[in-house]
Amino acid sequence: MSNSPNQSGEYDLIARYFQNWPKYSNTQIKTIVPNGDDCLVIQSSCPIAISVDSIVENVHFLTSSPAHGVGYRALATAVSDLVAMGATPSFFTLALTFNKDEAWLKLFSEGLKQAANDFKIDLQGGDTTRCKKTSKNTSVITVQVHGECLNPIKRSTAKVGDLICVTGNLGDAAAAVLLLETEHINAIQQTLLNAFYYPKPPIHLSKQLSTKAHSAIDISDGLLADLMHICKKSQLQAKIDRTKIPLSVALKQTNTAAQALTFALTGGDDYQVCFTIDRSQLDWIKQNNIFVIGEMFNGVVDILDEHNQSFTKHYATLGYQHF
Ligand code: ADP
Ligand code: MG
Repeated sequence: MSNSPNQSGEYDLIARYFQNWPKYSNTQIKTIVPNGDDCLVIQSSCPIAISVDSIVENVHFLTSSPAHGVGYRALATAVSDLVAMGATPSFFTLALTFNKDEAWLKLFSEGLKQAANDFKIDLQGGDTTRCKKTSKNTSVITVQVHGECLNPIKRSTAKVGDLICVTGNLGDAAAAVLLLETEHINAIQQTLLNAFYYPKPPIHLSKQLSTKAHSAIDISDGLLADLMHICKKSQLQAKIDRTKIPLSVALKQTNTAAQALTFALTGGDDYQVCFTIDRSQLDWIKQNNIFVIGEMFNGVVDILDEHNQSFTKHYATLGYQHF
């Protein structure tokens, strides 16, 4: 803890909202010294996947965003990287630099706890810092996730002839970003906002993907931008059929067909997995309601549409650009 005029108050906050959470994880990563000491100490007989993500107020969420959703999203988006790596969630740490009141913190911790329950991941430590009163609207939430990773799925190992698949609907969260400041939200719009604040990375598939998929990436910046990472790392060309991209009813009802497709292709924030896999897995793909959207080819590194046109001609950007 740091920057605290009233240290016992800060310790109380940690104890009230971030300690003694339920333990879910059943991985080979064992706790030797649990949260609450100077360090967490673990021992593992398996490979461990580690990923860290920060979300920043007024970059990834708004000051007016519901704290419960901010908490859920902070953890779900980090877990998404474990899922795309084929890892089983084990534990996470939370670094919180915030400028909010306790009511916000309570709702935030409840959203975070709901995500911890959904993804069966244990809170095992963190750091809590209050911003100076003068530094308004700059809360930063950093989550580091750890998972058991027996068979890492890399971006660089797609093979020629692989089917390109996605695990769920795309575009809802990108459409929701335009609604974040809307005051009166109808039921369909709320469905889209839920996709933004409560993303559901397909945790139920991560173990099976780890033994079946040749390459994978989570869709955080937009399908085209993220698939392009697989193409570049694997030195292959992707061809996708735009008519095969899964779009939700809510997205289609609230947007023109062209706009819905643009959200799905370039919008980001979906936290579904895009992976490539041998055609012989088609039965498994169908049984798991996974969508086949294209195929990997030898050729110039690029993504082509169903008319063999490069997407870089249709779209100014392939996805969210951080800088
Ligand atoms: P130190 O001063 O040694 O960094 P802290 O005062 O930051 O220790 O934290 C005390 C204990 O509380 C540590 O075990 C830390 O992991 C835990 N902790 C602090 N903040 C959080 C948090 N946001 N979530 C979970 N555990 C936390
Ligand atoms: Mg600390």
